[in-house]
Amino acid sequence: MTLINAPRGTRDILPSESWKWAYIIKTASQTMQDFGFSEIHIPIFEHTELFSRGVGETTDIVEKEMYTFNDRGGRSITLRPEATAGVMRCALENNLCVQGASAKLWSWGPMFRHERPQKGRYRQFYQIDAECLGISNAMADVEVISLSLELFRRLGLRNLEVVINSVGCEKCRPVYRQKLVDYFSAHKDSLCETCLDRLSRNPLRILDCKKEQCGLVADGAPDIFDSLCDECREHFAQVRAGLERLGFSYRLDKRLVRGLDYYTKTAYEILSGDLGAQNAVAGGGRYDNLSSAIGGGKVPGVGFACGVDRIMLVMEEQGCSFGQVPKTRVYCAALDEESRASVQVLTHELRKAGISAECDTSGRGFKAQMKNAGACDFACIIGQSERENNSVAVKDMKAGVQENVPVNEAVNYLRDRL
Ligand code: ATP
Ligand code: MG
Repeated sequence: MTLINAPRGTRDILPSESWKWAYIIKTASQTMQDFGFSEIHIPIFEHTELFSRGVGETTDIVEKEMYTFNDRGGRSITLRPEATAGVMRCALENNLCVQGASAKLWSWGPMFRHERPQKGRYRQFYQIDAECLGISNAMADVEVISLSLELFRRLGLRNLEVVINSVGCEKCRPVYRQKLVDYFSAHKDSLCETCLDRLSRNPLRILDCKKEQCGLVADGAPDIFDSLCDECREHFAQVRAGLERLGFSYRLDKRLVRGLDYYTKTAYEILSGDLGAQNAVAGGGRYDNLSSAIGGGKVPGVGFACGVDRIMLVMEEQGCSFGQVPKTRVYCAALDEESRASVQVLTHELRKAGISAECDTSGRGFKAQMKNAGACDFACIIGQSERENNSVAVKDMKAGVQENVPVNEAVNYLRDRL
């Protein structure tokens, strides 16, 4: 029989890499805590309508990328392609934002999108996600952008660029949309097939088409800044001023519209100069209409999601530190067959005292055991004479010196030295 492999676009995270992932999540967790964000976890699957109504019917995610299936009860279920809609649903369902209350929430975990797998693009990938709900003030936008940048600073990422735009609101976007339809209709001959389709369904998306022919046309498109209503214009000015006060530089990009319908006002991305084609490490913005789109009341929000897989690629590329490689501190070795049982008991005692310890369980000889001990700080060796004297030989693996210690003092002895 042929061996069954993992599905295309998925990856196994092996021990050689998993400790680095743990470092990224730990750093994120600390950063979120320092910014006053609380951790939550939401389901990996939701009702399909949450995404079709929340993210938007005409977005790439909903049109082409979702893993949707009917469950055994005949309900349409979708593996979450992103977290924001689920976090908003969770906040509404659990009344986290009633009567003007706000909630700062973060989460991390796998997302699923049926895309063409390539470097930095997978079908199961991981995001760290932060959402600030219930606040319409521009200070919240600045807080979220600054949170993402502080996380990347702590991880040691360099060569990043912040790109921002305003995509307007339900008042001014229809006006801009019409301007775009008029403009692009006059340039139909130069647009790709997909953009011709977008022209009637979602003309804003033509602005971020990656095809060169469309890019050239889009460069000449009307500027959204000229269409923003007073409120959106003022909000954007405040976001920019806030970023400048904190000393962050950014680039304005009127073509940044992002792929999700729920964005209003601020949209932003953080790009890495070391990722090649898939260069976005984080994306986010404000989404004041998401709540009503999924059946809730008026709950404004602003947040971001960053791709852990891509952070990992950049950190490897830039030689960033992942902290200490985790290792076992003490290795307990048996000199002879008869000592194996005592060795396991000693290992057990050390662990109960909070000292990381290992012993051989596969029947390997003393030499092989000591080879493993070489990676630890100390070896605890038990042979016939140690058993007879109720002692253990403790060897400092770095210094190479060995001392005999009564078994019942081994824990304290090691505690002092580790
Ligand atoms: P892209 O432009 O790369 O398709 P996106 O705009 O679809 O990104 P978002 O929905 O904003 O991505 O998700 C936020 C972040 O999640 C991205 O900036 C990226 O780091 C990461 N991400 C998105 N899709 C994938 C994927 N298929 N594989 C790995 N990471 C991804
Ligand atoms: Mg995408």
